[in-house]
Amino acid sequence: MDYQALAALLFPHITQTPEQLEERFPPRQLPEGAVVTRMAPSPTGFVHLGNLVQGLTAERMAHQSGGVLFLRVEDTDAKREVPGAVEVLIQTLKHYGIHFDEGATMDGDNGDYGPYRQRQRAQIYHVYAKKLVSQGMAYPCFCTEEELAAMRERQEANKETTGYYGKYAMWRDRSLEEVREKLAAGAPWVLRFRSTGSIENQFKFDDLVKGKLTITENDVDHVLLKSDGIPTYHFAHAVDDHLMRTTHVVRGDEWLPTLPFHIQLFQALGFKLPKYVHIGPLMKMDGASKRKLSKRKDPELALTFYKAQGFPVAAVYEYVMTLLNSNYEDWRRANPTADATTFKFSPKKLNPAGNLFDYAKLTDVSKNEIAKMDAAQVYTLLTQWAEEFDPAFAACLERDSAYTTAILAIGRGGKKPRKDLATWAEAKGYMGFFFDEYLDAPVFDEKFSKDTVIDALERFLSTFDISDDAATWFDKVKAITTDMGFTTDMKAYKADPAAYKGTVADVSTFLRVAVTGKTNSPDLYTVMQLLGRQRTTARIQAAIDSLK
Ligand code: GLU
Repeated sequence: MDYQALAALLFPHITQTPEQLEERFPPRQLPEGAVVTRMAPSPTGFVHLGNLVQGLTAERMAHQSGGVLFLRVEDTDAKREVPGAVEVLIQTLKHYGIHFDEGATMDGDNGDYGPYRQRQRAQIYHVYAKKLVSQGMAYPCFCTEEELAAMRERQEANKETTGYYGKYAMWRDRSLEEVREKLAAGAPWVLRFRSTGSIENQFKFDDLVKGKLTITENDVDHVLLKSDGIPTYHFAHAVDDHLMRTTHVVRGDEWLPTLPFHIQLFQALGFKLPKYVHIGPLMKMDGASKRKLSKRKDPELALTFYKAQGFPVAAVYEYVMTLLNSNYEDWRRANPTADATTFKFSPKKLNPAGNLFDYAKLTDVSKNEIAKMDAAQVYTLLTQWAEEFDPAFAACLERDSAYTTAILAIGRGGKKPRKDLATWAEAKGYMGFFFDEYLDAPVFDEKFSKDTVIDALERFLSTFDISDDAATWFDKVKAITTDMGFTTDMKAYKADPAAYKGTVADVSTFLRVAVTGKTNSPDLYTVMQLLGRQRTTARIQAAIDSLK
């Protein structure tokens, strides 16, 4: 077979040579040990937690080593593509603090190793496809779907491995004449790799996460170019990661089964093999067993979920870091305020089997993160969230920013800050009562007669002075308590409940329910101070009226 002639026949439009491409994309000038890596997502419109796990791993490895992180859009599967998906992807990753040094951006490409969208690289793949054909390492296959299906049936009936290999590789050694005839007839074809591997052979391979692997050679003549001339993932991976000078491939371990083929392809193309970082899946407990997080069943797989719930970016980031590196939490305890980027990240610390996603843990991490923020920070992030997801609440929060910030300052700072909020979506439940729009109607414990409650509230109103300090305020509440036949002595009450109408806690609860609509709230004196004289009085009066 004249391979040169075959190459010319299949790729008459390709005049560029691999050498020219090598020159156009020279090795990067980077310090020793600098990691060049990438994120290479397919724009399906769905950005998930797995993307973030991989993205952060890649980002840390690149930037920690003084290397480069780039974004390559793998849009070879036009059927799966959703309009606007690239923008969603870029924005979402940016939201989570993943900064790309080069690659696809909102307005075109940025960097010297592009184009960074695979569909724009068709010519480049064809240069290498032509080279492989001219060296007898790839050939056109004109098999129809029906022929392939029949082959599979035969293999299944014979209990053989299915696939296009060995004696089943029907177009491996056809003549130039046959190929010419098919082409002249306009028959569609794919380009296949001519595998020289054997499943009898095994070799050792080191993966940065999985450790030492024993790999069986690939003997399948996999497809390199589909019938529309667009490359398969495998071929694009080899060509792109070589020309973009990737040193480390960070990707999901669903690619492990095709790794033998990738290694073979790099060799055939004369490319240096990058290092591989194969990341295990994200799993969750489902009853007593673990399973992979699923797009269909688990809303928490989508990154949009965390944004909509209002988990601060810092919390999600922090949680993912604890998932990725088992020693991160200890480091964080020792360095509570340090920038996460000063932690020494290692791919070797990733769990080879993947990670168990734990929503409760994320919630805890998030409570801690929010507790670390000051009121002004919380104000900014909360209002940002509300503007997008609860505009009516945002309007309340922004009506008087000093008032809202003062509310958010309750229990903040100091040695033991309150750790109540895990998400911005929860904020309304905690602080909504500060705004008349979200104040619940008071519901008092029916154990006490309406007259008793009214009596307590009226007594309070008659002595209420907003300029009282906390101690004076509480002395007044205690005076009302004893005057009404309740007690401030909890022990005495426990010993003989029948001797009293109730305790100071009950009287406080009447006031709390009247003022906040809830039986639980931050410190009531502080709440009244923030609400101010007028609003506090109006609320207590309204509660009295509601009982009459
Ligand atoms: N487009 C591939 C995916 O989304 C990329 C895998 C890789 O990073 O090489 O799974």
